[in-house]
Amino acid sequence: MTNEELWQIVLNEMELKISQANFATWFKETSISSIKNGVAVIAVPSDFAKEWFVNKYHKTIFEIIKKFFPDLKTVGYLLKQQQTPQDFKKQAHFITQNKNQLQFQELKIDKKTNLNPKYTFDNFIVGSFNELAHAAACSIIQKPGQVYNPLFVYGGVGVGKTHLLQAIGNKLNQNEKLTTIKYTQAEKFSQELVQAIRNKSMDNFKEKYRKLDLLIIDDVQFITGKNKTQEELFHTFNSLYDKNKQIVFSSDRPPNAIPLIEERLRSRFEGGMIADISHPDFETRLAILKSKCSEKEIKISEEILNWIASHIQKNIRELEGALNKVAATNSLNGNSLGEKEFKKILKDFTCSMKKNTTPQKIIESVSNFYDVKIINLTDKTRKKEFVHPRQVAMYLLRSELNLSYPSIGEKFGKRDHTTSIHSCEKIKKELEENESLNEEINMVKQLIYV
Ligand code: ADP
Ligand code: MG
Repeated sequence: MTNEELWQIVLNEMELKISQANFATWFKETSISSIKNGVAVIAVPSDFAKEWFVNKYHKTIFEIIKKFFPDLKTVGYLLKQQQTPQDFKKQAHFITQNKNQLQFQELKIDKKTNLNPKYTFDNFIVGSFNELAHAAACSIIQKPGQVYNPLFVYGGVGVGKTHLLQAIGNKLNQNEKLTTIKYTQAEKFSQELVQAIRNKSMDNFKEKYRKLDLLIIDDVQFITGKNKTQEELFHTFNSLYDKNKQIVFSSDRPPNAIPLIEERLRSRFEGGMIADISHPDFETRLAILKSKCSEKEIKISEEILNWIASHIQKNIRELEGALNKVAATNSLNGNSLGEKEFKKILKDFTCSMKKNTTPQKIIESVSNFYDVKIINLTDKTRKKEFVHPRQVAMYLLRSELNLSYPSIGEKFGKRDHTTSIHSCEKIKKELEENESLNEEINMVKQLIYV
């Protein structure tokens, strides 16, 4: 057996054991570089991947290889080559233009750091959708400025970027060695800069940001096209970086997708750790709801929570919004609302999820995701490898665009409407039980809505 064949076996087994998203993230660009004298060496693309393998997958990989090499004593991990951050996450990412900002309750904010103490790690739920970003944040807390600098967290609206960034700040604020911490939004940074230029107080501005122990800049995508801000941010960054001071950024998209930023700044963003936050799966959504209920002392039945978690899938802010709405109406009605009323209240939320795509885009995205040709999706072939992607495409046409069953059948080799009903129902049913299918479809959706 060659190393490639052995690794393929490991990959096949791992793929069954972990989620599609994790598999795509961690096992891309890995290989066995050698196996001799009882030691198997796995080549991985980055330091962070190495750590992840050691902590999360080592035991499983060891066991799989040992089945074929009973003499195996250990498995080691080796950096493959100089890694670029894009390699890290070539998988689909969710890009959104929505510029909703969290409304702070001004009073609670610490004047010196700009941090809001309500955001902590204790009330931050971790699931597969954010575990990478969370793990990176935890490493930073242990060794600020020394492991991943900068940390660049990106993800769609309302998925917890601000919460995580502020939690990092709040936690490090307890560390006595870090005396000067600042959280700011890129937009604020920019406004302050303009003000400083106007007031001829640039020295103060520079001093303020360059003496920090920790700088957190939220929503850095706002600097797009703002040359002066970019220049100042670049120098601030360098000044802090040279002194091993930690810098954390968030953005609604990865650095390479932020338009109109200087290359030198982009390469700084990409120079540390890039971690995405995607969308929480059903169990995590439920866990978040439960944690919010106990935080806010809201009593809502398990069934309603389940219903909210299964209908509001996009982001945590919406999830919280739905919960608040339900809780408020319920208490106004003396906690007497029945299931029917609850569902009526929540209808607003589910309806408000805007659909903004086309059948063509959905079919293209499915074709890209599963790596099958569009013609193979839409013609009559019954080959096994095309059946699942085709069913997913049909399902998405129905769920995202509410197309009629006959028109869906029409698009797929003029199939009968009963075929489209069958496909949609099949996927829908599988989604109720199969979490990895859920993630798979979420990833396709990310491609659709890029
Ligand atoms: P973003 O900055 O990505 O738009 P936020 O950090 O503002 O999102 O999160 C939106 C809301 O969801 C906030 O109220 C936040 O506390 C909550 N939230 C986000 N992620 C989590 C999580 N993992 N666990 C618990 N609550 C979360
Ligand atoms: Mg935010």
